[in-house]
Amino acid sequence: MKHQNVNYSENCKVCGNELDYHNKGEKLICHNCGITEYANISCSNGHYICDKCHGADAFNMVLEHVVSSESKDPLHIAEELMSMKDEVPMLGCENAWVAAGSLMAALRNEGSVGINNNQVEEVLNRTRSQAIGGYCGLTGVCGIAPGIGACFSVILGAACPKDKETSVTMKVVGRIVNVIADQTGPCCCKNFVRNSLEESIQLVREYLDVDLPENEIRIPCDHVNRHPHGCRKEKCSYWDK
Ligand SMILES: [Zn+2]
Ligand SMILES: [Zn+2]
Repeated sequence: MKHQNVNYSENCKVCGNELDYHNKGEKLICHNCGITEYANISCSNGHYICDKCHGADAFNMVLEHVVSSESKDPLHIAEELMSMKDEVPMLGCENAWVAAGSLMAALRNEGSVGINNNQVEEVLNRTRSQAIGGYCGLTGVCGIAPGIGACFSVILGAACPKDKETSVTMKVVGRIVNVIADQTGPCCCKNFVRNSLEESIQLVREYLDVDLPENEIRIPCDHVNRHPHGCRKEKCSYWDK
């Protein structure tokens, strides 16, 4: 059921109130599935929605879209997904699936690295395991970083006992974290997706020897009025005056 005047993405999914970000986490019960988790975000009425329930619909939508996309341009695929505003919220780690899925789809479509749709799904599942809403600020690791890391890990076959494969994956994650760190105040998932994918185009060239198309046209952001913490405006390279 969709509420006309409540934008799910910025507010409590249950009552539409603003969300509170707690410095000290506490045990909260998901209003939807009943799981009890240690968490830091709830609304002023005490409603908590776990990450799994938060993105339940979006996950399959992102997966289906990236599996069927024919574009080699990861930013283009990501913009298509982010424009589905009912499914992909303004903030939240659904945006990490968008970034990781778009990069994998673009690489699969480009063709130099043989990628199948099982690998695309594997990347999204790994991203889901480590992309947790709000942890950009809580630990410094935005979910997009492990999302892009998952792409490289799956392609390179990285794992704990491996050597260079894991090293490259970690370096990629470090680069993404650095790029995102220059774009905070407040955090904006749309900006993070775009900047991370621009950096990823450089990273796949360096580490995988793949040339993906670079988006020449500046993306004018149409999410400005959706940001619950305020758009960064002139601080953001995607802001359209
Ligand atoms: Zn609520
Ligand atoms: Zn839940």
